[in-house]
Amino acid sequence: MISERAQAVEAAATLAMSRLAKAMQADGIDVINLGVGESDFQTPEHIAQAAIAAIEAHQTSFYTPTSGLDALKQAIVDHVQQRYDATIARNNVTVTTGAKLSLYALMQVLLNPGDVVVAAAPLWVSYVEQIKLAGGQLQTIVPDNAALKLTVADLAALTTPVKAIIVNSPTNPTGQVYTRDELQAILAWANENDTYVILDEIYGQLVYNGATFTSGLQLQPLENSRMIIVDGVSKAYAMTGWRIGWTLASSEVIVAMNKLLDHMTSNPTAVAQYAAIAALTGDQSSVEVMRQAFEKRLNATFDALNNVPGLEVTVKPEGAFYLFPKVEPQVLTAAGVADTSELSMKILKEARVAMPSGEGFGMPGYLRMGYAKDQAVLDEAVRRLTEFFQQYI
Ligand code: PMP
Repeated sequence: MISERAQAVEAAATLAMSRLAKAMQADGIDVINLGVGESDFQTPEHIAQAAIAAIEAHQTSFYTPTSGLDALKQAIVDHVQQRYDATIARNNVTVTTGAKLSLYALMQVLLNPGDVVVAAAPLWVSYVEQIKLAGGQLQTIVPDNAALKLTVADLAALTTPVKAIIVNSPTNPTGQVYTRDELQAILAWANENDTYVILDEIYGQLVYNGATFTSGLQLQPLENSRMIIVDGVSKAYAMTGWRIGWTLASSEVIVAMNKLLDHMTSNPTAVAQYAAIAALTGDQSSVEVMRQAFEKRLNATFDALNNVPGLEVTVKPEGAFYLFPKVEPQVLTAAGVADTSELSMKILKEARVAMPSGEGFGMPGYLRMGYAKDQAVLDEAVRRLTEFFQQYI
């Protein structure tokens, strides 16, 4: 029999929707897949070449250190020094098979059964299951502000002790960016209450229209602190498939993570680590080229999506590459569906646009559209959505 633990886990709604879309595409059906957070850009050539060179130099027949190659950890140390003027040491870094594994291992390292983790809803689908798998208890808060950002007032209203807070800025799925003051206030609350703060900064390089991203590293040191940073190369460098992410934390947390990772993966793929070194130390101009393209697409698609009858994005995203429109409740009734989860399936089948619904993000009543796609594809998606929603409004 499959374990109760495994049975309790939900498949990732985003990946499930994307799998359906890909299966339909394989059957020759013209589906637009806006389901998953993949960039449509190719990994920049100098990064790919570094991996090819590593293969040709036979850097493949040994385990690297569990925490990653020293050269990659140094590249990460230098990167945060340069970007955030933050001084950290290599023993504050562990490199993992994607930021996703950093977060998974962190939950395993931090949580005892029943420990409470607080996060604002909507939230990224995997936090929910990762906390569950570690025996923790997720407490989501729907913040009382239009941007749906967690505030200290929300934290002060909690009645149970909190082991950890997750803040994802820029946020998947709303694209909101926490200001320096907002982050500072959360960190101060956490310090007073001996609570870990996990800052998921995976979209930190993707902010738009003059928004400023603040990293936790600009606000307090890692050593002797309960602040933990998660980041990686997936989003900013179009490297989702390479699976390289990292955790920056006190050496105490890093040592504990490495002990677990010894038994989980030994190390992230050596070749991918060489690619990540090239990403962080090489020419950064492709990051800006992609950022500008996403900014343009956001601006065009935000307005277009708000013109679709029955959909509304109230607060414009400032980062990441998602829009999270609210669905007018009357659409559900008119379309004969019980909730937005059923609506997203109907949209997939009839309008042939794949978008996961808010349910997986802890926020029913919404849909999530990834806009890391060519503008012509996005325009066609919006045209199909308009046609679909017009029937029900
Ligand atoms: N955090 C958030 C908020 C994400 O959206 C993602 C990817 N969808 C990740 C972490 C994981 O990124 P990766 O494992 O590709 O590094």
